[in-house]
Amino acid sequence: MTRHAKMVILGAGTAGLTALKEAQRYTDDIILVNAGPYGTTCARVGCMPSKALLEVAHALGRRRWLADVGVGGTDALTVDLPAVMAHVRALRDRFIAGPIKLAKSLDECSIHGQARFLDAQTIEVNGERIHADLVIIATGTRPVVPEAWQSFGARVVTSDDVFELTAPGRRIGVVGLGPIGVELGQAFAQLGCEVHAFTRGPHVAGIDDDEVNASLIGVLEQQMSVTTGADVSLHESGEHIMVEGGSHRAEVDWVLASLGRRPNVDDLGLENLGVELDDRGMPTFDKATLRIGDLPIFIAGDVNGQRPLLHEAADEGRIAAYHALHPEAECLSRRTPVGIVFTEPGAGFAGQTAKALADNGHGFVTGSASFEKQGRALTAGRNAGVLKVHADARDGRILGAEVVAPDAEHLIHLLVWSIQQGLTLDQMLQMPFYHPTVEEGLRSALQAARRELGTRRKLPDLPLCHDRADWALG
Ligand SMILES: Cc1cc2nc3c(=O)[nH]c(=O)nc-3n(C[C@H](O)[C@H](O)[C@H](O)COP(=O)(O)OP(=O)(O)OC[C@H]3O[C@@H](n4cnc5c(N)ncnc54)[C@H](O)[C@@H]3O)c2cc1C
Repeated sequence: MTRHAKMVILGAGTAGLTALKEAQRYTDDIILVNAGPYGTTCARVGCMPSKALLEVAHALGRRRWLADVGVGGTDALTVDLPAVMAHVRALRDRFIAGPIKLAKSLDECSIHGQARFLDAQTIEVNGERIHADLVIIATGTRPVVPEAWQSFGARVVTSDDVFELTAPGRRIGVVGLGPIGVELGQAFAQLGCEVHAFTRGPHVAGIDDDEVNASLIGVLEQQMSVTTGADVSLHESGEHIMVEGGSHRAEVDWVLASLGRRPNVDDLGLENLGVELDDRGMPTFDKATLRIGDLPIFIAGDVNGQRPLLHEAADEGRIAAYHALHPEAECLSRRTPVGIVFTEPGAGFAGQTAKALADNGHGFVTGSASFEKQGRALTAGRNAGVLKVHADARDGRILGAEVVAPDAEHLIHLLVWSIQQGLTLDQMLQMPFYHPTVEEGLRSALQAARRELGTRRKLPDLPLCHDRADWALG
């Protein structure tokens, strides 16, 4: 028996479920297949539990500053790590409830099993064959763990299992300091664990700019050991693990391997699609429509490796479903790129980095502002970081920013919204800046970039009356 469906979606993660909701605007003839646990990577083992852990850690991290400014008794604060982990899991269970309900709402059209293509329009799941007019592959990624580290068993943990730890040991090796390693490493360090962090390259948290990178490493080093340029090896040390990399070695209770993620395509039967696969087993696809060649198959979310972030996975689910069902439609544009790392201070980028602009031969100026002496940051004892804004050398249009700063997530949003709107430095500087706020630090960087432009300003930084609506003048 072969079932038939207008659309089959492989993967009930963010991309798959968003594709489902978009497609349901036009058809109910959809089958959703999911291989692993339900609830999405983001809500189950990603964005949400990591932020739940970081909130507790950052709040506790304030105790040193409180002691410095005259608040007594902070030394008496203790961390019940098993209780903190239980709190994270309880919140996690709330976040996964919605996605699980949505996936299961399809009843018999929601299938739990590993999907495999027999050909471009036939999929096999649990021994059943489904003929599909259209297919969306949204199977996500999984953490990489080197083969040689498998022998350490449960003492080597990835972000997939870290939130399941009920009583984590207090000596931790973190290997890989991309956004995930940096966030989780800082969280455990602020919670009082001894963290030894290693990364292969010179940069952490995906930051490109050397100065911005150094400002984050400087903060992290006050909380944990950070070794960059390290090729790490693990060795047995009784019941424990000896982590060695660069000039640092430390005995730890467990290791968080945050070495990157690989696409879940290996068991999908993509070799049966009749298209060429690259050496990672990935087919080529249209970057705008996400369609694989001329096939009625689209590939969306982290699995395609384009922009492995939650809001991008959702957008790609929308794009894939929309283009699958509207083959003649004009292609949908993407939002301006943005990335945020939820350390304290926060880090991230908006638009294009200086490196990307230089690689593309784009003429640009950069203005920067330090948060070490920024007024509002000082009042809060959060005075660390540096913010760089890049603007077009011809017309001052803002092109990108690289940030380590208090409340970076909000500053980065202001920047990315302005970039997408095509605002210039002058236009941004005509916006209100309340006092005292960290946004005044952003204003300093914008002003510095404008000085770099070298153009003499004709007017004060205020809009002209005839450009404003009457209500705004009141
Ligand atoms: C620790 C961590 C923290 C993160 N923090 C953030 C953050 O703060 N902000 C942010 O924007 N992003 C963050 N991310 C990234 C974000 O979680 C992902 O971008 C997003 O979850 C990707 O969604 P997806 O739908 O592509 O994949 P997923 O949600 O992983 O869904 C893929 C689904 O496909 C299923 N599947 C796999 N193979 C098959 C198969 N053969 N057949 C059927 N089903 C299959 C899987 O079981 C899974 O359910 C974080 C990720 C991690 C790991």
